[in-house]
Amino acid sequence: MARQTPPDLYGVLGVSRDATDDEIKRAYRRLARELHPDVNGDPGAEQRFKEVTAAYEVLSDPAKRRRYDMFGSQGATPDLFFSDFGDIFDVFFGGMGRRTRRGPRRTRAQRGGDIFAELTLTFEEAAFGVEQEIPVEALSTCDRCEGTGCEPGTHPSRCSRCGGTGEVQDVQRSIFGTVLTAHACPTCRGTGEEIASPCVACRGDGRVPKKQVVSVEVPAGVTDGLELRVSGAGDAGRAGGSPGDLYVSLHARPHPVFERRGTDLFAVLEVPMTRAVLGTELSVRTLDGEERVRIEPGTDPGTVIRLKGRGIPNLGRRGRGDLFLTVQVQTPRKLSGEERRAIERLAELRGESGEGGDATLRPPGP
Ligand SMILES: [Zn+2]
Ligand SMILES: [Zn+2]
Repeated sequence: MARQTPPDLYGVLGVSRDATDDEIKRAYRRLARELHPDVNGDPGAEQRFKEVTAAYEVLSDPAKRRRYDMFGSQGATPDLFFSDFGDIFDVFFGGMGRRTRRGPRRTRAQRGGDIFAELTLTFEEAAFGVEQEIPVEALSTCDRCEGTGCEPGTHPSRCSRCGGTGEVQDVQRSIFGTVLTAHACPTCRGTGEEIASPCVACRGDGRVPKKQVVSVEVPAGVTDGLELRVSGAGDAGRAGGSPGDLYVSLHARPHPVFERRGTDLFAVLEVPMTRAVLGTELSVRTLDGEERVRIEPGTDPGTVIRLKGRGIPNLGRRGRGDLFLTVQVQTPRKLSGEERRAIERLAELRGESGEGGDATLRPPGP
């Protein structure tokens, strides 16, 4: 079976096998300028450009170049050919080029870690939202070294253990043959750089713990146990990596009166017996302030009065839940003589005095 011979990557760039990193870079730059599809209209140019770019991706990366030297294309990573070339192009052409598919790419930048905080809210704050300042401690860019990790005036050098690749390889011989495994270099922790004189403030990390205050916008309608994410408020990244996030877990204090179920609120409304009988208007303290609530004459105990829109706002959308008040009629106790006589008189008038007659039973439920 005929197999396609992989191209000789040095030949593609027109450099010798012992070319220096600089020579490889210069060769690529020259070819990229000449062949880039935005510049060169020749139909074959784009294909050539891709080959040149793929060759450069391998030969400019010390680890990939060494694997290629040892094993040929088989030793290189599977994404070797025709992977992304937009990024490399941007580097050389100052970003004016196309920015297309972005493949994974070995980079020293490292995202900062996420940090966590707790925030206790009053019932009302959870209901209506609040802006709170939360003290947190996060790793932030070291002022002394501006994040480089090097003492001012010094620079990192290529890691002596891994030669700047950030990887070290173990060769193991087994019955299956030679097995090559790569793992992050322990000396430079995969960064490929060694810091000869680490910054004294951050010990070379480039970041120091700093106490800071983060302003958190708590939206209306949050519930106890909800977690808010404040994007970018976590630890600073390493070597230009993006910062982590801050996660705030919310706790909401209960209300002394209102019970919350979803966005609806529930409470018991105590109504004196005479008012339940005669009807009245009562002043009720809702979350929105005093509200007049009409008690119809002859209101039964257990009657539910619904105050529309006096519940909790919906989280993230318009509208609010309702407030449900269950009437509890207060039967008077400890009557004065005069009160007792008045009630007895009422009982007489209603034919309810003396021994109680037959009771009426009905099934439970509303
Ligand atoms: Zn520092
Ligand atoms: Zn190293």
